[in-house]
Amino acid sequence: MKKNIKSYNLDELKEEFIKLGEKPYRAEQVFKWIHQENVTSFNEMTNISLELREKLDKEFTMCIYNIIRKQESIDGTKKYLFDVLDGNAIETVLMEYKHGKSICVSSQIGCKMGCKFCASTGIEFVRSLTPGEIIEQVLAVQRDENIKISNLVFMGIGEPLDNYDNVMKAIQILNNPKGINMGARHISISTSGLVPKIYELADKDIQCTLSISLHATTDELRSALMPVNNAYNIEELMKACRYYIEKTNKRISFEYALAKDNNDNLEDAKRLVKLLKGMLCHVNLIPINKIENGKFTKSTNENILKFRDYLNDNGIVATVRRELGSDIDAACGQLRRKNL
Ligand code: SF4
Repeated sequence: MKKNIKSYNLDELKEEFIKLGEKPYRAEQVFKWIHQENVTSFNEMTNISLELREKLDKEFTMCIYNIIRKQESIDGTKKYLFDVLDGNAIETVLMEYKHGKSICVSSQIGCKMGCKFCASTGIEFVRSLTPGEIIEQVLAVQRDENIKISNLVFMGIGEPLDNYDNVMKAIQILNNPKGINMGARHISISTSGLVPKIYELADKDIQCTLSISLHATTDELRSALMPVNNAYNIEELMKACRYYIEKTNKRISFEYALAKDNNDNLEDAKRLVKLLKGMLCHVNLIPINKIENGKFTKSTNENILKFRDYLNDNGIVATVRRELGSDIDAACGQLRRKNL
């Protein structure tokens, strides 16, 4: 089977070229063609000899995704369903912010975590994506829209910390100034709370932003919403978060999706303040997207603002996230499910 050339960092690619009897600087040229020029075939690499292009074509695949479906929201959000070339599909979302274009990538095909509010629950976990398959989401959207993406969030389908090594490698490849050159500060990892991996990430000390999907303030409710809480409860999660902040001196973002009569009352807000008191953090309140056939509905605007104000008045910085793409099923997993 051909190897995906997008999964190689520059040093590894140089090694591969040496094995092929080629000079390492050729690897750098090819790396630039792939990640900066975003070409779709070895044939387009005009400063590479025909002989080498043929050699590369025999050894490697360029992993070029086909678009199965593309939906566009009235607010400009674009949602892609990509064919990952093995019969599976993944989704990727492009969002427009004042500070630039941001992409939300998937890290796995399906997900093992089973969060109840997530539409990808019920879609069986198939496998983790390789670094190259993560990178190709960025390149495919850049090609399709003829744009440069400035920010990336691992918030699509999959638990990125359950695919730790491949996600770390994808970040390293994205960072390379001779490639896409996206700084780690522009990359955010969102986890459902895999505690051991939060410690690992803290010790790695990369400059990414860490987001924690919290969504509840009691173990009872959190375990009901997110089975991962049975393995690592809120206390253990908070301990890991404190360690992360102490180690990296970086602010953690806590995601809290508000669902009507579920986790949006004043008692929840009070407990949240108690949990996060003194932590270098920010709370992102998300008006939950209504999930087809799901049992959660969005909080009222009044409740959302009350919740936010209570947090802010009590020393926890909280903002309400803009609802992007709500008319095109922005909750992760929904587009994929529709296609099944
Ligand atoms: S919310 Fe994220 S971690 Fe939870 S099931 Fe959905 S994709 Fe997995």
